[in-house]
Amino acid sequence: MENKLRFTNTLTRKKELFEPLNPPFVGMYVCGPTVYGDAHLGHARPAITFDLIFRYLLHLGYKVRYVRNITDVGHLENDADEGEDKIAKKARLEKLEPMEVVQYFTDRYHENMKQLNVKSPSIEPRASGHIIEQIEMVKKIIDSGFAYEINGSLYFDVKKYNENHNYGKLSGRKIEDLISNTRTLQGQDEKKNPYDFALWKKAQPEHIMRWPSPWSDGFPGWHMECSTMGAKYLGNYFDIHGGGMDLLFPHHESEIAQSQAANGKDPVKYWIHNNMITIDGQKMGKSLNNFITLDQFFAGNHETLDKAYSPMTIRFFILQAHYGSTLNFSKSALLAAEKGMKKLMTAISTLDKLKSSDKSSVDVKSLQEKCYAALNDDFNSPIVISHLFDGVKMINSIKDGKNTISEEDLILLKKIFNDFAFEILGLQEEESAGNSDLVDKLMESILSIRKNAKEQKDYATADKIRDELNKLNIQIKDTKDGASWEITE
Ligand code: ZN
Repeated sequence: MENKLRFTNTLTRKKELFEPLNPPFVGMYVCGPTVYGDAHLGHARPAITFDLIFRYLLHLGYKVRYVRNITDVGHLENDADEGEDKIAKKARLEKLEPMEVVQYFTDRYHENMKQLNVKSPSIEPRASGHIIEQIEMVKKIIDSGFAYEINGSLYFDVKKYNENHNYGKLSGRKIEDLISNTRTLQGQDEKKNPYDFALWKKAQPEHIMRWPSPWSDGFPGWHMECSTMGAKYLGNYFDIHGGGMDLLFPHHESEIAQSQAANGKDPVKYWIHNNMITIDGQKMGKSLNNFITLDQFFAGNHETLDKAYSPMTIRFFILQAHYGSTLNFSKSALLAAEKGMKKLMTAISTLDKLKSSDKSSVDVKSLQEKCYAALNDDFNSPIVISHLFDGVKMINSIKDGKNTISEEDLILLKKIFNDFAFEILGLQEEESAGNSDLVDKLMESILSIRKNAKEQKDYATADKIRDELNKLNIQIKDTKDGASWEITE
């Protein structure tokens, strides 16, 4: 396998050639959801981005161990280590055990991922299942001198760390700016500096999620889980760590600092971050009333939607943008994605029916090369899609008799669509398209009745069939050996 894959490493801000630490093995860690609510569009983007990367690495022949965690403890309402645990709060409001909340939303997340055809990761560890490992790592950070204890809570000393390391190397933030931009919440903050982060928090009496530790009954700081579980399953230095750009700071920046303090080295060779989704140009959020869950998209039951959008429409919509650019959601963009997806699937079913000739008048080989080139250039899915649409034109021109394709090229063209559309982009035919076999058979029998009618010079019946089908947006075209049909918009 000739290695040509290059992608943007957030750490160096450069496109780099992918050279795994221990080929053919690849370790990839992606921050998964904090499971206290239904998944929305903002969850679909990282899931689909890293699913594309996972699928492409597998396609290239790598043996990928893909770890995507479930955050079920330690993620507080406020990223500055204040407020209630998100899961504990939901549990209190719903009068449930926190692990009931976790199980319920984890199951729903899995259901959504299945609908979006996102492959399951190799390992899906939970933060609450790794408390002992997190305590052990905190001990190492204490031993290295970068942690301090106040009232049973442990904090990371960012200022001290920054004397010999660079807290900000990933996000590009400077500690001087952090000092002037962070404000202490009216005396509530017991940290030495507001930008220090919690490694372990002492639980208040009302806090229900708590474990014993050498320092207090409490719970781990949010950034600890990913440092710990990444190291446990992928080693102290592994290939790829990913997540949404919103996790760049403080989450991933702090992961690097923790690993440097505990193990004396950076944890990750390549960092990859997907950009965010905006809705009609605004940041998506509950307060803006533009917070649409995936279930609401699939059922069409959110006040701002006038119809349902299928999981594959959402997947196609997300893949139509490069993961590194912001993706603006609007109804017109979704409608365009729905139309594009349908066009692609219609062409793929036409492809199955094409007949080969002695010679090709189309260049199939270069289509395949272009698709690989696009993926090798920073997983550029929108460019792959545009090449597939060149393939759609090719298919239609062959169907209409304007071009010919050899048997060998026809096999290759089918392989291209199978590899890129289904296996790598992870698109799949949906139920409406799943009925296409039945529709094909029905159309075949209707067209044969019409052919009979014409042969018996019963043009009235033949025309009536054509007109009735027209009303259903099915267009009949008479060809030299009968008739063909297509669904029009
Ligand atoms: Zn994480």
